[in-house]
Amino acid sequence: MEPTIISGKEVSNSVKDEIALEVEKIKSSGGKTPHLAAILVGEDGASRTYVNAKVKACERVGFGSTLVKLDADTSEEELLNTINQLNNDNDIDGFIVQLPLPSHIDEQKVTEAIAPGKDVDGFHPVSLGKMLLDLPSFLPATPAGIVEMLRHYNIPTEGKHCVVIGRSHIVGSPMSVLMARNANPGNCTVTLTHSRTQNLNEICASADILIVAIGKPEFVTADMVKEGATVIDVGIHRIEDSSKKSGFRLLGDVKFDEVAAKCEFISPVPGGVGPMTIASLLKNTLLAVQLKS
Ligand code: NAD
Repeated sequence: MEPTIISGKEVSNSVKDEIALEVEKIKSSGGKTPHLAAILVGEDGASRTYVNAKVKACERVGFGSTLVKLDADTSEEELLNTINQLNNDNDIDGFIVQLPLPSHIDEQKVTEAIAPGKDVDGFHPVSLGKMLLDLPSFLPATPAGIVEMLRHYNIPTEGKHCVVIGRSHIVGSPMSVLMARNANPGNCTVTLTHSRTQNLNEICASADILIVAIGKPEFVTADMVKEGATVIDVGIHRIEDSSKKSGFRLLGDVKFDEVAAKCEFISPVPGGVGPMTIASLLKNTLLAVQLKS
C-alpha cells in the first residue's frame, strides 16, 4: 500500500490563501491591517530561521510584521519591559516570544507576561484554560496545525485510538486535549505517553493515529506502528551534513522510509508539521483581530 504523504506545505498554503482573502476584506472595508510582532532573544540559528519564516508568512497574507531583536545577554527585566510595550501598543494585534530563551530568563514568567488577548502562540495559562473549556481562544500553534492537517485530508478520528508521544506544554499535552475533544477532528480515545511510560512500543503499535513529539531523531521505527496507521511527526532535528549547502539536513522523530511503508497517511520532515505551525500562528493573529472587534 502506498501511503498518502500529508503535505503541510499544501495545507498551509490553503490556510494562508483563506487568511489573505480575509485580510483583503478587512482592508477594503477600511479596517486596520492585522499586525504580528515577534521577539527574538539571541542568535540561535534555528530560532532565527523560524522567526524569519514567520515574518515572510506575514508578508504573504498581507499582515504587518515587526521583528524585535534583542541581544543574548538581555536581562529578564528588559525583556519583560519590551513585552509590556507590545502589550500596550494598539497597532500590534498579537506577538510571540521565540523559544527557547537564554537560560538566565524564566520562560514561564515571560509567557505569563504576555497579555492574554495578544497571546497568539497560545501558551498563556488563560489560553490553555479556555482550550480545556472549549471556549474561543488561541490554540497552541503546532497542535492546532496538526488538527488542520487531519481535517484537510479527511482522516477519520471519531472513536479511533490516538497515541501521543511526549507531554510538553506546547505540543504533546495540548495535542492530547484537542484529539479527545467532542469535535471533528477529535472524539478519539487518547493515550498520552511520556518518558516514564512502560510498554511504549506495544501502546504505539495499537494506535490508529500516532502523533510523535519526543524530540529524538528517528525514534519511532516500523515495529512500533500498526499497518494502515496515520503517523504525524512533530520532531525537527538539524543533523550535520557536509554534502548540503546549508551544512545540515533535517530529520524528524520518525524513521520515515520504513514507517511510511506501513502507513495510510504520514507527515514528512521537512514539509509536514513545520509549515502548519506558522499557518496556525497567522490564524491566531486574525482571531486576535476578530476577538477585539
Ligand atoms: P520536549 O523535549 O519538551 O518534550 C519531549 C517529551 O518526550 C517529554 O514530554 C518526555 O516525557 C517525552 N519523552 C522523552 N523520552 C521519552 C521516551 N523514551 N518515551 C516516551 N516519551 C519520552 O519536546 P517538545 O517541545 O514537545 O518538542 C518535541 C519535538 O518537536 C522536538 O524535536 C521539537 O524540535 C519539535 N517541535 C517541532 C515544532 C514544529 O513546528 N514542527 C514545534 C514544536 C516542537
